[in-house]
Amino acid sequence: MAKEELECSFCGRKKPETSLLIAGLDAHICDRCIEQAHGIVLEESKQSDNSELSAELMLRKPLQIKEFLDEYIIGQDMTKKVMSVAVYNHYKRLLQSPSKDDIEIQKSNIIMVGQTGTGKTLMAKTIAKMLNVPLAIVDATVLTEAGYVGEDVESILTRLLQAADYSLEKAEKGIVFIDEIDKIARKSDNPSITRDVSGEGVQQALLKLLEGTTVNVPPKGGRKHPDQKFIEVNTENILFIAGGAFDGIERNISKRLNMQAVGYSASKSDDVIDRNHLLQYIIPKDLKDFGLIPEIIGRLPVLTYMDPLDAKTLRAILTEPKNAIIKQYEKLFEMDDIKFHITDGALDFIVEKAIEYKLGARGLRSLCEEVLTDAMFELPGTDEKELKVTKVYAENKLNKTTIKKLKAVS
Ligand code: ADP
Repeated sequence: MAKEELECSFCGRKKPETSLLIAGLDAHICDRCIEQAHGIVLEESKQSDNSELSAELMLRKPLQIKEFLDEYIIGQDMTKKVMSVAVYNHYKRLLQSPSKDDIEIQKSNIIMVGQTGTGKTLMAKTIAKMLNVPLAIVDATVLTEAGYVGEDVESILTRLLQAADYSLEKAEKGIVFIDEIDKIARKSDNPSITRDVSGEGVQQALLKLLEGTTVNVPPKGGRKHPDQKFIEVNTENILFIAGGAFDGIERNISKRLNMQAVGYSASKSDDVIDRNHLLQYIIPKDLKDFGLIPEIIGRLPVLTYMDPLDAKTLRAILTEPKNAIIKQYEKLFEMDDIKFHITDGALDFIVEKAIEYKLGARGLRSLCEEVLTDAMFELPGTDEKELKVTKVYAENKLNKTTIKKLKAVS
């Protein structure tokens, strides 16, 4: 073929009409077609980025999200359900193509109310694990308004960037868990007599972050400094989950439910109110009465509560979750070829102590540790191939140590 007769096998342009014609095995491609093809490749890879997420989502509908949570978290069914829907909707929101119909799905930031140790952090961690997104856990008590001693709210995003190994793209789709949000409640009903450094000011500073904005974040943390390089982080697609114990909020709830009215309850409607479990009736107004500003409450539109842990739940926490404490000890002993058994009696005893000393779920681990430390110290390297922990064994180990501790306190 004469040189002039060469043409692009894609668009048919003759060689003189192109700036460049590249030859392949059996075909040619011109510069314009290369550019077009390049554009298509870029577009496709962008979509497959999204489709990675959507595959994840399509794989897990709210029901499946809850099933995943069930593997790691005992009870808390209401919160699991609410969370599953909120997370599903949040990621659907990420997938929505630039609005054709002006319907913009609002962020489904979440607030969880419940005593400490009931699994709020665990809930956030499990969601992050499931979605394989970075998670930053921050304590609201360390946050202060810019200019005061403490951490600026931007430090939250520094943590998220760190959790994402400084991948901005990952961080911008991550999850932030703000613990102890109740500790930044307004201290008094009168907002402006004195400046409330750790309360309302911080709430104000958090607002923008929750809503979605671009923030200059010092990547290594610390105070903002004129010479420092910043990373611009857009918080629009970051899911915020806040948690707090809100000690005493039951009083607000009960007041609202009018339960204190003497002689009135007899004439109340058929609705039976479970007085021992008032958190289940929580509404946003109760948070407002507690001292959260309405704007913050508005930006945490999904409100849910955690049940207190009873003996049955604590018992299940010891053995049932995928990485239950007892399963962990089994594995640890197994690595030394030791078969570890623990009797029901011993498990019940540990639960009993956790309740007696008001240690909650977090105490279960330290109690187990107290019971098993001697064995973990002594058995490895010996001929012992079995450890059976009975109630008597647990009593012996615990009594010695707890009594010592109690003595130390008194
Ligand atoms: P919170 O954030 O509410 O203070 P955490 O999530 O930190 O509580 O819980 C403390 C520990 O207790 C967790 O590490 C977890 O092992 C255990 N735990 C608490 N609640 C549950 C639960 N419902 N299911 C399983 N484990 C739980």
